[in-house]
Amino acid sequence: MIKGNCVVAGGGICGVFAAILLADKYSTVYLVEKENDFGGLLKSVTDSSGNLLLKIKIMCIASWKVNFFLN
Ligand SMILES: Cc1cc2nc3c(=O)[nH]c(=O)nc-3n(C[C@H](O)[C@H](O)[C@H](O)COP(=O)(O)OP(=O)(O)OC[C@H]3O[C@@H](n4cnc5c(N)ncnc54)[C@H](O)[C@@H]3O)c2cc1C
Repeated sequence: MIKGNCVVAGGGICGVFAAILLADKYSTVYLVEKENDFGGLLKSVTDSSGNLLLKIKIMCIASWKVNFFLN
C-alpha cells in the first residue's frame, strides 16, 4: 500500500478500471468526470430498451475506496 492520494481524470471505462485497480495501492483514489455521468463512449452502447449494457455506476459504487465526482 502506498500512503497518499491519487486522482484519475476521466470516468470512461479506462478511468473507472484504473481507479478501481489504484484503490488497492493508494490510501484514497478520486475519480473526476467532467460530464454529469460516467461511461464515456460506452454510454452510447445500450440494449433495445435503451438500458446501458455496462453498469459503470454500480462498478464505481462497488469499489468503496474510489471517491467519484461528477460535473
Ligand atoms: C457504439 C460503440 C461501440 C463500441 N464497441 C466496442 C467494442 O465492441 N469493443 C471495444 O473494444 N471497443 C468498443 N468501442 C470503443 C470503446 O467504447 C472505447 O474504446 C472506450 O469506451 C474508450 O474508453 P476510454 O475510457 O478510454 O475513453 P472514453 O470513453 O472517451 O472516456 C473518457 C472520459 O473522460 C472524460 N474526460 C475527458 N477529459 C476530461 C477532463 N479534463 N476531466 C475530467 N474528465 C474528462 C470524458 O468526459 C469521458 O467520460 C465502442 C464504442 C462505441 C461508441
